[in-house]
Amino acid sequence: MIPFLDLKSIQQAHADELKQAFARVLESGWYIMGEELKQFEREYADYCGTAHCVGVANGLDAIILALKAVGVGPGDEVIVPSNTYIATWLAVSHLGATPVPVEPVPATGNMDPAALRSALTERTRAIVPVHLYGQAAELDQILAFAREHGLKVVEDGAQSHGVLYKGKRVGSHGDAVAWSFYPGKNLGALGDGGAVTTNDPEIAERIRVLRNYGSRVKYHNDVIGYNSRLDELQAALLRVKLPYLDADNSHRKAIAQYYLGALNSIPGLILPALAEGCESVWHLFVIRHPDRDGLAAHLAKHEIGTVIHYPIPPHMQPAYASLNIAEGSLPVSETMHQQVLSLPIGPTMTLADAEIVVKVIVGYFGR
Ligand SMILES: *Cc1c(COP(=O)(O)O)cnc(C)c1O
Repeated sequence: MIPFLDLKSIQQAHADELKQAFARVLESGWYIMGEELKQFEREYADYCGTAHCVGVANGLDAIILALKAVGVGPGDEVIVPSNTYIATWLAVSHLGATPVPVEPVPATGNMDPAALRSALTERTRAIVPVHLYGQAAELDQILAFAREHGLKVVEDGAQSHGVLYKGKRVGSHGDAVAWSFYPGKNLGALGDGGAVTTNDPEIAERIRVLRNYGSRVKYHNDVIGYNSRLDELQAALLRVKLPYLDADNSHRKAIAQYYLGALNSIPGLILPALAEGCESVWHLFVIRHPDRDGLAAHLAKHEIGTVIHYPIPPHMQPAYASLNIAEGSLPVSETMHQQVLSLPIGPTMTLADAEIVVKVIVGYFGR
């Protein structure tokens, strides 16, 4: 049996260190906004090469607070990818703003910079590029468009911890980057967690205040804030895992490169491609085929786990019925959603298991 992602083995590789971190927090008597959070924020900011990191409760809150901190509010429009996890859109909606989707580049699945113009109105306030599947978005073109039109850029880095864009780690290209430490992400906690990185001290300070009831000094509330803090325990556990992130990402890359080489001659099968200057940390290895459901069933029969990221695009979810975006109006994304399938990949998956996955896929297509 080959699971899609073996979270237990990922934690067990660091079990002793994680238990020590837990014991440290247990003994400290301090569980919210303490030394572990401060240290993790410093370490993650340094890792990303940014001036500031602010820990928050989860990835969705990270996008919400970052957008709020750059000034997005009711009545604004925010350009988002049509092909993303729905959290990117939800963050915009929770601020009373409207998500306006643009289509992806078919080869990469990432936001198409050439499509931005079609989504621009006088109400556009910001863009949220997503580094989808772990691949850096085409930031230079997106940032140039944003500068030209006075827009803010908040990147959704939930799937892309450690990724390089043109040789520089993602974390401070745009105004801010929102991160998730959901357990299944490349840098995952043992529960929910998130953060925002930025080089702008004012944005960092606004988020620090917003995440803690709008308060700088206890029981003095300057703005209408949230309760969205990264707790001490998750911060301590993330500090254990951060030093292994690069090695984990290299291992994912080795599996991805094996898949790319071994699956490249199957008719009709589309393999992931990288845009120029955009590396990937291979959060997901997403293939496409018109007979996706048949292939997924065949892999399941051979006890190989796969996941569809994602079965339904955000604009076709009941949650977004009120936007009245007709089926068929975002055809690139809609076709991708019908054809995508994510193969097993992860830091503890063996190359021997990847070979079995390839054999079963090759077997299905009868060659
Ligand atoms: C996981 C994810 C999020 C949300 O993160 P949570 O920590 O689960 O709230 C946002 N955007 C993308 C692209 C994600 O993959």
